[in-house]
Amino acid sequence: MTDTDIAIVGGGIAGVTLAIGLLKRGINVKIYEQAPNFAEIGAGVSFGANAARAMDTIGGGVKEAYQKVFTPNASTENGEIWFNFVDGYHDNKEAGKDQEKWLFKLISPRGGGGVHRAHFLDELIKAVPDGVAIFNKRLETCIELNDGKMELCFHDGSTARHDAVIGCDGIKSRVRAILVGEANLQARPTYCHKYAYRGLIPMENATAILGADMAENAHMHLGPGGHILTFPVAQGKMMNVVAFRQDDSEWTDKRLTAPAHKKDAQRDYAEWHPNILAILDMLNDDLDRWAIFDLGEHPLASYCKGRVCLLGDAAHATSPHHGAGAGFCIEDSAVMSALIQHANTISAKRVCSVYKSLEAAFAAFDQSRRERTQWLVQSSRITGNLYDWMDPNAGQNKDQIYNELNERCQYIWNADIDIFTGDAVADLDQRVAL
Ligand code: FAD
Repeated sequence: MTDTDIAIVGGGIAGVTLAIGLLKRGINVKIYEQAPNFAEIGAGVSFGANAARAMDTIGGGVKEAYQKVFTPNASTENGEIWFNFVDGYHDNKEAGKDQEKWLFKLISPRGGGGVHRAHFLDELIKAVPDGVAIFNKRLETCIELNDGKMELCFHDGSTARHDAVIGCDGIKSRVRAILVGEANLQARPTYCHKYAYRGLIPMENATAILGADMAENAHMHLGPGGHILTFPVAQGKMMNVVAFRQDDSEWTDKRLTAPAHKKDAQRDYAEWHPNILAILDMLNDDLDRWAIFDLGEHPLASYCKGRVCLLGDAAHATSPHHGAGAGFCIEDSAVMSALIQHANTISAKRVCSVYKSLEAAFAAFDQSRRERTQWLVQSSRITGNLYDWMDPNAGQNKDQIYNELNERCQYIWNADIDIFTGDAVADLDQRVAL
């Protein structure tokens, strides 16, 4: 282990993949997590080819953990398809068709499908040795001491000292508020005026009602003011469902999720295609309604200040319409791991102090990541409206929706993470040479 000593606040996908990347590179790290243990919700998450490449760059077993729990589309014809896009609204029975009308299929370098979040996290944490994560530690504040160390202060009155702090504490990030000041609008996410119902349906029920093709392969059902996506998870034992709805009101609940009933969802999609009503009917009676918030209204002017930096949703929480938020957390972790490793090498060679090299690493991270990640936040907003037939140009025109979406998705998936890390490390070198 090296002298460099990093505190990570938050043990979600961002914090855990970053810790694994740093441990693999011999960097001392501690994760401070407010919950009593690592935990993820019982829902699905999908990753693009960009995220898979970033997992390779991080190393330390991240890709293996993903591959162990990844469930692809079931049929070989669907092998390269990200989602089958269908009209989820009009019932074409009158036109002699009892299936929803095919709109288009979007081809991706990794195909479709996903992982059960909790299963993925369970596999990831096997690569985190005992003692690295400290639970029941909710960060309240963080200050620089006279000797230059950063002191973290937790809600239970305890403190910890490290060379630098990386906030991986999610959409409601406390580290973000500390970094920009609580009164700053950049400290808070805002409502995107969409909410979602999420659920997992046993695959045997889904195939009995929808047929194997629709249940076992990723589908995106588009309609006016909403869309419903499904893909297989849990080795094909479950069908993941997320049903999004446009909402012109304000979200007044302090929490980002509110209890709801299946009847609420059925009311929201009452006019939709029978397949949608059938999917909703298979959900549990008690559901959660997830408010979709993001950082698109007041994007951060910088992801770092001194030796405090933000990563993952803490820096760039996005609406989920590209299915890429967690993938971008993993890209972040790949770039940050390489930068801190290099900062450590630089300070070990006495080119500059540990503190200066870490400050330069965070500035290089900000330079490398801010533009791409903030683009995602804006692009996801546009994409949500494309799906909901609300885009002012595309409307219900399937060719325009396809062209717009395909271009955006290819930009996400075809990113070369090794170029990002190489450029960021070169930038770090320049900064310490100044
Ligand atoms: P989080 O997962 O929020 O983790 C933050 C951690 O920090 C938590 O463990 C929390 O307890 C801890 N914490 C918070 N505050 C403190 C504190 N003060 N002190 C200590 N610990 C603290 N992304 C995809 O790539 N693909 C998808 O298919 C996808 N689908 C989505 C569907 C929906 C409906 C939503 C809402 C999001 C979706 N996303 C998807 C986005 C993805 O879920 C997030 O980008 C990702 O989970 C964020 O990870 P994170 O580690 O940054 O934050």
